[in-house]
Amino acid sequence: MRYRTCSCGALRLAHVGVESTLCGWVDSRRDHGGVVFVDLRDREGKTQVVFRPRGDAVVLTELAHSLRSEDIIQVIGKVAARLPGTENRKLVTGEIEVVASSLKIFSRADVLPFLLGDSEMTNEDLRLAYRYLDLRRSPIIRNLRLRHRLEQSTRLYMDALGFLEVETPILTRSTPEGAREFLVPSRLHPGHFYALAQSPQQYKQLLMAGGVEKYFQIAKCFRDEDGRADRIMELTQIDIEASFVSRGDIFVLIEGLMERIFRDTLEIQIPVAFPRLTYRQAMDRFGSDRPDTRFGMELVDIGDIFHLSSFGVFRRVLDAGGYIKAINVKEGMFYATAGRIEKLEQIAHRHGAQGISFISAESRGWKSPVGKFFSRLERDTLTSRLHIEEGDLVLFCADKWQTACEVLGKIRLYLAEALQLIIDTGRWDFVWIVDFPLLTLDDAEGKWVAVHHPFTRPKQEDFPLLDSGEFGQIRAEAYDLVLNGIEIGGGSLRVHEPDLQARIFDVLGIAPERQSRLFGHLLRAFQFGTPPHGGIAIGVDRLTMLLCKTPHIRDVIAFPKSGRGQDLLFSSPSTVENCQLQELSIRLAGNPSSS
Ligand code: ASP
Repeated sequence: MRYRTCSCGALRLAHVGVESTLCGWVDSRRDHGGVVFVDLRDREGKTQVVFRPRGDAVVLTELAHSLRSEDIIQVIGKVAARLPGTENRKLVTGEIEVVASSLKIFSRADVLPFLLGDSEMTNEDLRLAYRYLDLRRSPIIRNLRLRHRLEQSTRLYMDALGFLEVETPILTRSTPEGAREFLVPSRLHPGHFYALAQSPQQYKQLLMAGGVEKYFQIAKCFRDEDGRADRIMELTQIDIEASFVSRGDIFVLIEGLMERIFRDTLEIQIPVAFPRLTYRQAMDRFGSDRPDTRFGMELVDIGDIFHLSSFGVFRRVLDAGGYIKAINVKEGMFYATAGRIEKLEQIAHRHGAQGISFISAESRGWKSPVGKFFSRLERDTLTSRLHIEEGDLVLFCADKWQTACEVLGKIRLYLAEALQLIIDTGRWDFVWIVDFPLLTLDDAEGKWVAVHHPFTRPKQEDFPLLDSGEFGQIRAEAYDLVLNGIEIGGGSLRVHEPDLQARIFDVLGIAPERQSRLFGHLLRAFQFGTPPHGGIAIGVDRLTMLLCKTPHIRDVIAFPKSGRGQDLLFSSPSTVENCQLQELSIRLAGNPSSS
């Protein structure tokens, strides 16, 4: 038996008179004076099927009358043109219908826990618990299709350039690489644990030691993160590493990959040779190391204007080595109500600043809690530097460099949304961020930590700073790729010299004994001839989310975990049988609630 002759999205006027067999889900059923209309749906679309109670078809129509949403049926019938005026312009099959001469019911559906058409309105937990129903919605199928295309394009592109797709282990060892790891107890080695790979980072470097030269993988990575809108525990990366490459080589490779993906998924041509900003420039101008460059309102440094100011608050910050940064919210004066300014102050406090100040450029002059302390010259210079015109709202933050930048960066994004400044939603703004700091001081722990990961190469000209102890000044050969204000990838050139790697571990507070215990495999590999190498990883989930124009990362994953890290379909994580724990030599300390 042949189940079907075509899909539910295939038939057109040209097929009128053709006998067709269709299979699918009953999307809806309508009865009109004895005639039953069924919209039959499969992955490719919907086709209207008509059951007319005439002649032989009376029994058939009665059976059709019993159909319910999501029953699975097979229909055989002739394609007919719909009567003029009854066409459905919204469907590609909307000019025809299939007049049924046979109906077979494969599977009956219970009443659904939610209406598929109302899925957007349905509580997400319920949708995730019945994810297979949710998957039947066309937006999710469209997203999965796009993700598939993205991954296929990647494979074709990388293969054509001579990259080998190599799978690396998921069960690996626990090493302090950055994120918190998932641990897996070993049955064969009681008291010992595997860790789930948070990325194939060390394996791909060892592949370079192994002479593979050009590697890629669409890799699963596991990070025990607390759920956030765009963070997930199980993420997918296009993971890449190559030997004998410069930063420029990696950029050309990835720009070409993006060009290919955009062409194959959205059929648009993006301009390549993406702009570059140093970390310092990105922070200075946009207050973020993942700047959204689709709109202006850039941060401006105005510290020099107030160096000799009689306005004590600004001068004290400057004297202590701080910065004064400002943004001009064009025509933003109307926004400056007490309540809204308070909201902006809350953002400032949340990001570590004492507060912010403002000038509202009204027609009768400036309204501002600080403006009256400025000299004429200071006002004039400020006006020309920030291009202040009547109706503008200027916001200041005076603080440490990082805080002043970050606070105005957050406010800039907040206002872009509140004032709807991103008008062109078809814009794709890529930017490379380069020259990140290699290390940052973790204030709470008083320890240096790697900004990317410990295998990142310092810039050659900053090597002396490793000896002089000015660790905060060392720049890394690291780069992030940002698209419309979202980090979609990152990577670096790597350390391949054992001494340099050991020195960096030292600075990170990993003593020699721990170095050989945790990273001996890598340090040893570097002793047997490892080429200079570098790579990058592109986040598939985030990139797909952007291409699908959905703000929800879970919409681009077939079986996502909930915001609290649960698989609501399988009710995982779950408790396990005592005998399983015994086999693993594990005794639970607490008394976890059963699930
Ligand atoms: N392994 C890094 C990450 O997952 C990417 C890289 O450096 O290639 O972020």
